[in-house]
Amino acid sequence: MKPLTELVLASHNAGKLKELQAMLGDRMTVRSVGEFSQVEPEETGLSFIENAILKARNAARVSGLPALADDSGLAVDALGGAPGIYSARYAGGAGDAANNAKLLDALQGVPDEQRGAQFVCALALVHHADDPLPILCEGLWPGRILHAAQGEHGFGYDPLFWVPEAGCSSAELDPREKNRISHRARAMTLLKARLGIA
Ligand code: IMP
Repeated sequence: MKPLTELVLASHNAGKLKELQAMLGDRMTVRSVGEFSQVEPEETGLSFIENAILKARNAARVSGLPALADDSGLAVDALGGAPGIYSARYAGGAGDAANNAKLLDALQGVPDEQRGAQFVCALALVHHADDPLPILCEGLWPGRILHAAQGEHGFGYDPLFWVPEAGCSSAELDPREKNRISHRARAMTLLKARLGIA
């Protein structure tokens, strides 16, 4: 297989793009699908991996380049894995603050020991839109949901996600540290190994 020199990231999420770019930018030219199309495909899959494949194929189709998609989210034990694949639109598309408020509401009265959760990241890389053999990698990052937001970095649910190994919320981590230990970092480590660029 030809080494990858240029890759399109199939995300319109500024927070994710920043993190993925930081993880890959020194290895290859990384572009955003937003340069080619503003139309986001409907995420009709029932799993992170299905949605990642769907987004990667769409980005490869509109750009004509190899594409990498991340589908990710937060799975909360006490909520049976919700918001899961619906993390971005948990509060009906009203944005991060509304999603976080809804999550805190849903967990009202739930004690610390039952607030376990994990961030999940599925990565799919396709060499072209109809690639029959996408490269697939997953990363999980276990933690716990706080009772109130803490920290200013990151995006999404970061202010509510307690990281036991760091002793702070994910939004309190230095961005470089988050990029070293997060679900996305874990999936990316596997992907780099698969691509031989570890
Ligand atoms: P996607 O763009 O459909 O994959 O949705 C991902 C959603 O999951 C984001 O909008 C966030 O709400 C959440 N999410 C994924 N990764 C992270 C993270 O690293 N920190 C905080 N929230 C995240």
